[in-house]
Amino acid sequence: MPTHPASSRSGASGADASAGPAAAAPPAEVDAVIIGGGPAGLTAALYLARFRRSVLLLDAAQSRLSKIPRSHNYPGFAEGVTGTDLLAMLREQTLRYPVHAVTAYVDTVERRGDGFEVGWAGGSARARQVLLATGVTDIPPAMPYVLEALRAGVLRYCPVCDGYEAIDQAVGVIADGEAGVGEALYLRHFTPHITLFMEQGAAALDEGARRRLAEAGIAWADEPIDSIRHWEERITVRHGQRETVCDSLYCALGLDIHASLARRLGARTNDDGYLVIDDHHATTVPGLWAAGDVSQGLNQITVAMAGGAIAAAAMHRRL
Ligand SMILES: Cc1cc2nc3c(=O)[nH]c(=O)nc-3n(C[C@H](O)[C@H](O)[C@H](O)COP(=O)(O)OP(=O)(O)OC[C@H]3O[C@@H](n4cnc5c(N)ncnc54)[C@H](O)[C@@H]3O)c2cc1C
Repeated sequence: MPTHPASSRSGASGADASAGPAAAAPPAEVDAVIIGGGPAGLTAALYLARFRRSVLLLDAAQSRLSKIPRSHNYPGFAEGVTGTDLLAMLREQTLRYPVHAVTAYVDTVERRGDGFEVGWAGGSARARQVLLATGVTDIPPAMPYVLEALRAGVLRYCPVCDGYEAIDQAVGVIADGEAGVGEALYLRHFTPHITLFMEQGAAALDEGARRRLAEAGIAWADEPIDSIRHWEERITVRHGQRETVCDSLYCALGLDIHASLARRLGARTNDDGYLVIDDHHATTVPGLWAAGDVSQGLNQITVAMAGGAIAAAAMHRRL
């Protein structure tokens, strides 16, 4: 029963069903519910709407894309593009099609016959298929000025994204475990000026870690990290009685992977916590698909978009 309800169209402005009294109520039943409106979810919604499938897009509006001060590795933008601009462009394009978009946090996805019942505060809908594009959240250091430093681009989360911008700069890595050693070694390809700051101090580094760091010429701070301060495009890390000034500070404190809705349905995750998917982005639960950062693979905008497109094409064939 492919449907294409023009009545549920959100409009070119991206008007949101939750935006006010004039907004249309979400449809009770759709071909596909997409949970998450970052690059993965928006691309999947665009494809499915163009395949003439009815789509309900539910998004809590916390895309990682919106945290990017300026990306230089997203193709097509030689001068780079800010995350908020790119997100707005993607939304504007997708919402030209009959996608019903609601700003909401989805609390439940439950099996109903061959399909699913999706629930959020104030609403629910039945879907024949569900795509999870819920992404991840970076765990920030628990100290003041983190947001300011992130916005200024001096606190960073992704060396794959912007290691190139750190070439030959003074770079710090803040971590609380082995991942910090790996991140420091990864960054060594870009710059020889690296200091590793362990939240709990160098006592957390065993002999093997110290040897690998020393062999790569990477310094580490002995004291636990106390605070960070953003000043004139640089970042000062205070540890004990000492301060180290860096051009940028990479945070390797881990990720919160938003896979719990799928796990509750019995979907398998890998050892790192990412949803296991096949070549078509099907999870291990029939009718449940996943794309973007929440699923295994490289956490990148282009990869999220590709995953959304692959999943949407496979979902269309199944519907
Ligand atoms: C600081 C920073 C810089 C980066 N720089 C780059 C870069 O230069 N190049 C690059 O390629 N990548 C970069 N990335 C990574 C990139 O942002 C992500 O790979 C990309 O946004 C992933 O897209 P996604 O659609 O999977 O998830 P997201 O963009 O995170 O979108 C997920 C959406 O799902 C929503 N959601 C989650 N749970 C629910 C729920 N239960 N109900 C409803 N909605 C929900 C969230 O609120 C969010 O809106 C960067 C990331 C950060 C943090």
